[in-house]
Amino acid sequence: MPTAASGRYFLQVPGPTIIPDRVAAAMAMPALDHRGPVFSAMAARISNDLKAVFKTRQPVMIFPSSGTGAWQAAIVNTLSAGDKVLIFETGHFSCLWKTIAIDLGLDVTEISGDWRSGIDANVVEAYLRADERHEIKAVLAVHNETATGVTSDIQALRRAMDNAGHDALLFVDTISSLCAMDYAHDAWGVDVTICGSQKGFMLPPGLSFTVASEKALERCKASNLPKGYFRWEPMIEAAGNGLYPYTPPVTLFYGLRESLTMLQEEGLEHVFARHARLAAATRAAVAAWGFDIQCRKPSEYSSAVTAVRLPEGHDADAYRAIVLDKFDMSLAAGLGKIAGRVFRIGHLGYMNALTLAGALSGVEMGFEAANIPFERGGVLAAMEVLNQG
Ligand SMILES: *Cc1c(COP(=O)(O)O)cnc(C)c1O
Repeated sequence: MPTAASGRYFLQVPGPTIIPDRVAAAMAMPALDHRGPVFSAMAARISNDLKAVFKTRQPVMIFPSSGTGAWQAAIVNTLSAGDKVLIFETGHFSCLWKTIAIDLGLDVTEISGDWRSGIDANVVEAYLRADERHEIKAVLAVHNETATGVTSDIQALRRAMDNAGHDALLFVDTISSLCAMDYAHDAWGVDVTICGSQKGFMLPPGLSFTVASEKALERCKASNLPKGYFRWEPMIEAAGNGLYPYTPPVTLFYGLRESLTMLQEEGLEHVFARHARLAAATRAAVAAWGFDIQCRKPSEYSSAVTAVRLPEGHDADAYRAIVLDKFDMSLAAGLGKIAGRVFRIGHLGYMNALTLAGALSGVEMGFEAANIPFERGGVLAAMEVLNQG
């Protein structure tokens, strides 16, 4: 048993995030006929409100799957066996997406990265210019690399693709950025946007979201990969008429309706500003402790998650285990090639100044408990930032 067995457990990972009490309460509803009028009214409202979150006029598809399912759906609906795609290695999640693409029979070119920076749009542009026969059919981008806390400039990527005069589709994974940082599917010229329910949406895992541009929908016609469960067409119809091709997870829809209401009440711009402040406070704490973060460039700082580099010779996983045992707080693990080297502090979703201050207190006390040398005053530095809000 953890020492702190009573009081709220601190879930300080960048997904799944904390579920607000009112979302949990909204999901405690009796089962419902998903072909009846109550569900249909709820689905219509959800459909409409989701467009505002993705900043799109296109329908938002909802699959009962984790975000990974939407990755797969984007590929099988628009591409064909052997198609070339380009992916920039930002970190663990871009690597996972690459693996799925290879598994589905695509010819994947990966541009290697250092796991400390975002997508270099100039490098992508050079690859596209060199592809004179336009064999590359899609560029796959992770907006917020959750493994490193590094964001990529999607608008710069779009400009690079346009500058190259290339007609590849632009796929963007917003699984850990949507509802935490600004994003605009239509205005940014994205072809396929992918998201999941368990991060900025403050819901349990289980829903994925997809928005496809007219151009992406056009490409579906020539795509020959098997689609099965993930066929887009019936999901686009469902976004219009509320009639899903298989049983929708009604409980999660109740939760989604509530989380969309919460986002509306706060206002998206305020949601982004809150996340930016929480992230700035976290970075202020890390700097005061005397540690580095994984993200190198301030313009690429993530508002959703901060990956903290521990001094050489200290195991981040051992440290996290001590924090969990002593304070009942889950910090996120380093993934892939930075496993054990970093730990991550999630600060997205249902999070306010005092929750974060409490979390950072646990992080700071944890250093002491784990005998990791640090400078005192991290929480104090964070409080100064939080007090400006
Ligand atoms: C969490 C996450 C995923 C994986 O989503 P699942 O819902 O676990 O399938 C993919 N990409 C990014 C950027 C993520 O943060």
